[in-house]
Amino acid sequence: MAIGARLSKKKSPVLRACANPNCEYAFWGIGNQKYCCKKCYKDVERPKISERTRKWRKNHPERAKEINKADYLKRKEKKNDNNN
Ligand SMILES: [Zn+2]
Repeated sequence: MAIGARLSKKKSPVLRACANPNCEYAFWGIGNQKYCCKKCYKDVERPKISERTRKWRKNHPERAKEINKADYLKRKEKKNDNNN
């Protein structure tokens, strides 16, 4: 039982291996962090999404453009919210 870990509300970093099978780094991860860096995250998480998205985009080029634009605007809005 890790009582000490339960008592401390602060998330302490844990030494773990990067979840990218092509990466051999160990890193101090905080919370649910699985990868040592953004590159590894992209290497592993991105292809799954883009593979599916690419196929869909091929079949719905106009719709994909619309969604891309909406997504961009949404992100921009969010960013502005954070700044204020
Ligand atoms: Zn890594």
